[in-house]
Order: sequence, then C-alpha cells, then structure tokens
Amino acid sequence: MDNSYKELLLELGKVLKSENIKLNEEMKNYTTFKVGGPCDIMIFPTNEEEFINSIKEILKSKVPYFILGLGSNLLVKDGGIRGVVVNITKFNEIKVKGNVLKAKCGAKLKDVSNIAYENSLEGMCFACGIPGTIGGAITMNAGAYGGEISEVIKSVRVIDKEGNVLTINKDEMEFGYRSTIVMKKGYMVIDCELQLEFGDKEKIKEKIDDLTLKRETKQPLECASAGSTFKRPEGYFVGKLIEDLGLRGYTHKNAMISEKHCGFVINKSNATAEEILELIDIIKKKVYDKFKVQLELEVRVIGEDKREI
Ligand SMILES: Cc1cc2nc3c(=O)[nH]c(=O)nc-3n(C[C@H](O)[C@H](O)[C@H](O)COP(=O)(O)OP(=O)(O)OC[C@H]3O[C@@H](n4cnc5c(N)ncnc54)[C@H](O)[C@@H]3O)c2cc1C
Repeated sequence: MDNSYKELLLELGKVLKSENIKLNEEMKNYTTFKVGGPCDIMIFPTNEEEFINSIKEILKSKVPYFILGLGSNLLVKDGGIRGVVVNITKFNEIKVKGNVLKAKCGAKLKDVSNIAYENSLEGMCFACGIPGTIGGAITMNAGAYGGEISEVIKSVRVIDKEGNVLTINKDEMEFGYRSTIVMKKGYMVIDCELQLEFGDKEKIKEKIDDLTLKRETKQPLECASAGSTFKRPEGYFVGKLIEDLGLRGYTHKNAMISEKHCGFVINKSNATAEEILELIDIIKKKVYDKFKVQLELEVRVIGEDKREI
C-alpha cells in the first residue's frame, strides 16, 4: 500500500471507530446491480463530525475518493475502485419540525417518505419506491411519477472540494433533468431541509400504496439492476424503442433486458460489469441504427476494468 494511503488510514483512525474502516470490500455487495470489484478503503461515518472530518482528511491526503449511497444508480467496473469510498448509509438521521423535514445524506428515501407520511406531510410520496438515499437523490435530482426532489428542497448543506461547508438554497441548486450543481461541482451533500405541505394522512397513504403497486407491476424489482439504464430522450420512451426492436428479454452472456420493463438492463446471474456494458453498447447501437436516437446513460459507470494478471 502506497504511503499516502497508509498516512490517510492513520488519520481516519483518529476520526472513525475501527469497525467503520474496511479494506478491500467488494463493491458488488454495495450496489443494487450486484456488480463491481473491490475498493481499496471503505469508511462508514456515523455522524456529522465524522463525515466532515473524514472528508477533510481525504481531501488533504489527495487520495481519490467516491461518495456512495445505496449504490442504486451505479455500475461499478470489475476492477473496483482505487482510493476511498465514503459509505454514507450509517449517517442517516431524520427529524421533523412543523412542515420542514431535515435529513442527513444517508437517510433512505423510503424512510424519508414514510416519516413524512407519519407526520401528515405531503411532497415525498413520489420517492417511496426509489431505492436510494436522499444524498444520492439530491445529487442527481431523482424523480418519479411526476414528482422530483427539486420540488421539495428548501436548502442543502454541502462540502466543496476545498473542504468548506456551504449552504445552497433551492434557487441556487441549478436543478435540471437528472442534474444539479452538486453533480456539476463535485460537492458532497451533508444534509438537507425539505419544505413539505401538511395534507390528509389517509390520502397520502393512498398515494404511496398506489405508486408502490404501479412500481411492483411495471418494474423488475425482484432482479438486480440500477433502475432505468438510460435517460429519457426528448420525445421518446426508451422502453418502447427497445421493445420495438424486438429486444424484450434479449440476453447477452449473463446480462439481460428485462422482460417486464425494456428500459431496465438486469444482472441475470452473476454478470460482470463488462458483460453489462457490452449489452448496453449493443442496445445503443441498435437503437441508433433503427431510430437515429442516441441513448445516454442514466446509470453512472465508475471504477476500473479488471487487470489481466
Ligand atoms: C429498481 C430501481 C428503481 C429506480 N427508480 C428510480 C426512479 O424512479 N427515479 C429515479 O430518479 N431514480 C431511480 N432509480 C435510481 C436510483 O435509485 C436513484 O438515482 C437514487 O437517487 C440514487 O441514490 P443512491 O443513494 O443509491 O446513490 P448511489 O447510486 O450510491 O450514487 C449515485 C450518485 O450520487 C452520488 N452521491 C450519493 N450520495 C452523495 C452525497 N451525499 N453527496 C454527493 N454525491 C453523492 C454518488 O457519488 C454517485 O455519483 C432506481 C433504481 C433502481 C435499482
């Protein structure tokens, strides 16, 4: 192990409990695609002090880093990730005051949505079935069924690449389709305030149940995937384009186009990232050849290819 890694591990050991620093964790155990080789170091900050101080140490060390939520929008390559993966899932507190919900970045969207419901607060129903964290959702402006995180954000606290803590208000977030200033500037989300509206608890429950049923019926939730593989191109539906090519259920090695929803590439059985990427290329090419539509990935591809030994 390189000296900068050793020095960083020493510093991280002063900030985090030893059980929250792990080496060579297989990323396939931390992604919904169940794909990805080992990362050098994975840390699990559990509170704000640990999160901010770990990030500051990482930035000082110049060791590369990656912030990991629930890994539900990622395709990690088979060679894994060099540097430190900051796993935020233990930094997940949620609090409600009036109609403002405060959540730490690692809070699950499902829990945020449920706590909002328990407090008769409307605005987070759309996220009840998105299997990610609020930090991941803010970074990529997650949305579903006509709702989007951009609609409920009041403010977001982030750390910039110099280690400064900044508060960004809603109107400074530069929300776009699956994009935000957080993504563009490489900020790290610490926590957020959501501005929700008081509503009828029964109606909120009905909406959550309705959206859950829609998702269960239409999406291959029983399979390993990272959700919609491609962004929605202007004027088209990806699933329909792929279906019209006769590719429903098309299999390439251990990767497959879902039979339930053609917009989802799934890991059929122990697929490698390489196999999934090959299938993605096949789909892109066929869609372009037939419809002249250039598909863009919604899933983020990270990490290194597996090195030949
Ligand atoms: C079955 C299924 C259904 C899905 N349905 C939807 C849907 O309806 N709508 C939708 O928008 N998405 C959907 N997704 C995709 C995914 O769940 C969302 O994009 C989610 O917001 C990602 O959150 P995450 O915590 O898993 O992030 P990860 O996948 O862990 O990370 C995604 C990106 O966010 C960054 N990130 C995470 N946390 C932080 C942080 N605190 N600070 C800075 N950067 C951070 C990561 O570095 C990475 O670049 C679905 C996925 C699956 C598997």
